Parts: sequence; structure tokens; C-alpha cells
Amino acid sequence: MDYDAVIAGGSVAGLLCAREIASKNHRVLVIEEDAELGTPEHCGGVVSIPAIDDLGIIPMRATLDNKIRSAKIVSPSGKDFTIDARQQQVIVLDRREFDKQIAHQAQVKGAEIRVRTSLREITKEGVRTSDGEIKCKFVVDARGVTSLVQKDRTGILQSAQYEVFADWIDKERIEVYLDQEKYPGFFAWVIPTRRDEAKIGVAGRGINPAQAIEEFLKKKGKHSIIRKIFAPIWIKGPIKEFVTGNVITIGDAAGQAKPTTAGGIYSSGIGGMFAGNAISKFLESGNRSELAEYQKKWNKKFGREFENMLLARSLLERMDNKTIDSIFDSITPKILDEISKEGNFDFHTTSVAKLLGVRGSVKAVQAILGNELRRLLS
Ligand SMILES: Cc1cc2nc3c(=O)[nH]c(=O)nc-3n(C[C@H](O)[C@H](O)[C@H](O)COP(=O)(O)OP(=O)(O)OC[C@H]3O[C@@H](n4cnc5c(N)ncnc54)[C@H](O)[C@@H]3O)c2cc1C
Repeated sequence: MDYDAVIAGGSVAGLLCAREIASKNHRVLVIEEDAELGTPEHCGGVVSIPAIDDLGIIPMRATLDNKIRSAKIVSPSGKDFTIDARQQQVIVLDRREFDKQIAHQAQVKGAEIRVRTSLREITKEGVRTSDGEIKCKFVVDARGVTSLVQKDRTGILQSAQYEVFADWIDKERIEVYLDQEKYPGFFAWVIPTRRDEAKIGVAGRGINPAQAIEEFLKKKGKHSIIRKIFAPIWIKGPIKEFVTGNVITIGDAAGQAKPTTAGGIYSSGIGGMFAGNAISKFLESGNRSELAEYQKKWNKKFGREFENMLLARSLLERMDNKTIDSIFDSITPKILDEISKEGNFDFHTTSVAKLLGVRGSVKAVQAILGNELRRLLS
């Protein structure tokens, strides 16, 4: 046997899984089809400090792009409210550097990493790659949304994210634009990375993301685009089985990104860590119940929150622009203050429920959404 585990996909989930396996002195190889880890970057990089702390990573000067102080949410007709995000310790990471930092941790523990090597097929004895056959006991699928596209297209939205220079970017404020006609079931976003620079994106069901982002930028004002990416996002929550025989699925490939925002650095990264620990324990004990612990632990940490996010998503998908505007009308400074003080960036459905449940809007929203809203509020 060449390796105890071969991990396909050298991004946050795959590299954290490798770090955990290698730290217990097992033989692990990460194969990444791109020529460089972290590149091309297809991520906004927004994450909380407590989350990356949980992943066992201290942000370095090179990985930390920016600190966020507030988030402005804008309704279809241009009404807005702002949440103070300082308590939630939100930062913007440079994923090109961040992924390399995790790779370095994994390497130090003894993992091997090969770039420009892609998984072609899972075989009886291991994997067939672009670099030949490799024998292993476990195959870990960490190929991101690519893996889900092959299994189920129904939970996928197309996104576009451009890196932009413009003097109208507020360095410390994230902006989110809701509009069910322009971005059905999702939104447009502005994530500042440094002074006069931001990652600006759109996603939505059935839209042409290139056209939608061009229109968004035109409305915002003068700008220069310095980079464009187009990537699918998954919004349908976790897949049923994380473990099938000796194939373990982790990260975005397992649907571990948030159904509300598609953010997955934290929840997908934790998926990689839990899987790595479970594989190591199995290799030491030979007891298959150790493998099942991976899914159990992930569900215990995120299961309930993801169910609520799916519920919040199904509510959003059925709201029209008029309903969203009516919710904005009834948001009070008290509610914003509560969210600013008590909100949790990584487990945010309590904040969403507070916004949806506000006084004036309740009647309008309940008429449409009834029982499900009551479930989310409870
Ligand atoms: C536009 C956009 C913005 C986002 N913004 C945020 C954000 O602000 N905050 C946040 O938390 N999350 C964000 N996300 C989500 C976040 O990027 C993912 O949740 C996270 O990167 C998941 O990590 P992963 O390791 O599971 O998969 P990925 O990061 O998708 O990595 C999969 C890796 O597998 C490789 N691969 C694919 N096929 C093969 C193969 N056959 N063989 C070998 N390697 C292969 C790929 O090249 C890639 O490196 C965003 C996503 C998108 C698309």
C-alpha cells in the first residue's frame, strides 16, 4: 500500500484533513489538479476570527487582507440598514495565501502534496490519477462543488466575482444587495479587501451572472476590473452519506457550505478536520464505528443550524421584492442593536429570524410563509 489516504483536492477541507491524518503519523498524499495551491482563488474570504481559531490557524500578515466593522444590507428599492460587525470579529482572508499556510502546516506534520495531479477514477486498490495509479486504504473526495455537479445539479447557482478598483468602496464595510428579480434566491455582494479594492459578486437562480455583475457595477460608478472568476455555489446543504465504504467526502464536496451565503471556509474546514481525525482513529483501532463519528460530530456541530439555514433560504426564495421592502420598513434600531451585540457570524440564523420576525412585517410575511416562519422563530 502506497498511502493510508489519498485526498483529491488541495484546498481548505483537503489540506486540513491531511494535517490531521499526518499529525498521527499516517501516510497521506494530497493531489491538487491546479498548478498552484490557493490559485485560482474562487472565494470572498470572509470568515470570523473564532472560526479560524477553531481550525487551528493563526492569521498571518500575508493571509489577512482586511478587518470588517459593519455590514450594510440594501433592499430592492434602495432602503438599507447597517449592522455593527465589530463584536463578530469578521475578517477577509487572502485565500491564495491562507491555503498555502494550511499546506505548510500539513507538510510540517508529514503530509505529501502534489500539484497538477488530478483524480481520474476511484479503483478497487486506490485511485487512478493523471500521474498514474496510486494504492491507498482511503480515498478522500475534497474536490469542492465540482464533485456535486456530477451528482446533483439542482442545488447549484452560478456566481460571478470580480476584483475591482474603485473609490466608492468603503474599506471596512461589507455590502449585500437583495433583489429577487436581479438575483433570485441570492444577492449581490461587495467585500472590501483593502483601500479602494473589493471582491464584488452576484449569484442567483437562472441568471446570467456576467450580465448581472456588469449591470451592478455600471450602477455603482466608475471602476476598473482587475480579475474575473465564475464559479458554481451549492445551496442545498449536506449530502446524505459522508462515508461510503472507503470513500470519505468532505468540505464543499459533501455540501458543507452554508445554504444561506455559500460560505464554507469554517464548516467545510471543520468537515476536513473531523474526517481526518476519524480516519486516523480507524487506522489505529480498525473499528469502523470510528468512521461514522465524522458525520455524527459534524451534524452535532452544524446540523441544526444548517436545517434552519435551509428553512431561511426557502423563505427567501418565495419572497418578492415588495415583501422584502416591507420587512426593511419595520426593522427597528433595537433589533439592529441586538443583532450587533449578540449575533454570531458562523451561526447566524437567530439574527435572520429576528429580522424576519419584526413587528410590522410579520403580518405580510406570515400571510405568505406561515408555519415555516413560526418554526424558524421558535
Ligand atoms: C464566489 C465565491 C465566493 C465565496 N466566498 C466565501 C466567503 O466569503 N467565505 C466563506 O467562508 N466561503 C466562501 N466561499 C466558499 C468557499 O470558497 C468554500 O466553501 C471553500 O473553499 C470550500 O473548501 P473545499 O476545500 O471544500 O473546496 P474548494 O475550495 O472548492 O477546493 C476544491 C479543490 O479541489 C480541486 N479539484 C477539483 N477536482 C479535482 C480533481 N479531479 N483532482 C484533484 N483536485 C481537484 C480544485 O482545484 C480545488 O482546489 C465562496 C465561494 C465562491 C464560489
